[in-house]
Amino acid sequence: MAMEMINGHGQSSQISQNGHKRVLVIAAHPDDEVLGCGGTIALHVRSGDQVTTVIVCEGESLRYTGMACDLTGDTMRAAEQLGTHDVRLLQYRDQRLDAIPLTDLIVKLEAIVREVRPHLVYCQYGGDVNRDHELLFKALLVATRPTEEAIEGIYSFDTASSTEWAYPRSFVPDMWVDISETLDTKLKAMACYRTETRAYPHPRSLQGLDYRARAWGNQSCLEAAEVFMPIRRVVRQGHPPQ
Ligand SMILES: [Zn+2]
Repeated sequence: MAMEMINGHGQSSQISQNGHKRVLVIAAHPDDEVLGCGGTIALHVRSGDQVTTVIVCEGESLRYTGMACDLTGDTMRAAEQLGTHDVRLLQYRDQRLDAIPLTDLIVKLEAIVREVRPHLVYCQYGGDVNRDHELLFKALLVATRPTEEAIEGIYSFDTASSTEWAYPRSFVPDMWVDISETLDTKLKAMACYRTETRAYPHPRSLQGLDYRARAWGNQSCLEAAEVFMPIRRVVRQGHPPQ
């Protein structure tokens, strides 16, 4: 249920009637959504927020040609662990976003943003070592520009084995989300991605991800955290910042 609200400029903007947020997660590859914000997604679901996840690339053509692999099935199983039901797979070729006109991707993202009208957007960090992450970030900056009136915050997430492998290492988080109650859920969701997990001490090992969440959390005296770098926050409709 949603109702129309009038903002200070006399333009209508939808907010959910019960105060629940609409959340849009935009990830390049299957598993990035879990690595970056799986624990936070589970917190949103637990709070009754509406979460839509977009996975832009199909994620298997380059690495797993000829191998038995069901990344789409893994994605849906991971979503089930997190409690999300709205997962959009755009099926661009893995590691080939540099081979398409970026406007093609922007148009698709714009259509989703205008349909979902998210309050919060979680996305890849544009300084990651992965080229798809970098290009997707540029596209989503256009698709989520301030003309989209519902958006209150856009937050880049930390993607294990991509964000910290870039140079210069420019990801500087300034939001720590306490995921101590949903870390197990995040790890169970990641375990669904059988071809994406690695043996410890790789950053994408389950134990490595557990340590990573605890190390991030300890920075802010929490048991475990996911961290975010806010890209844009807008406080609207005469409300004070929270
Ligand atoms: Zn990725």
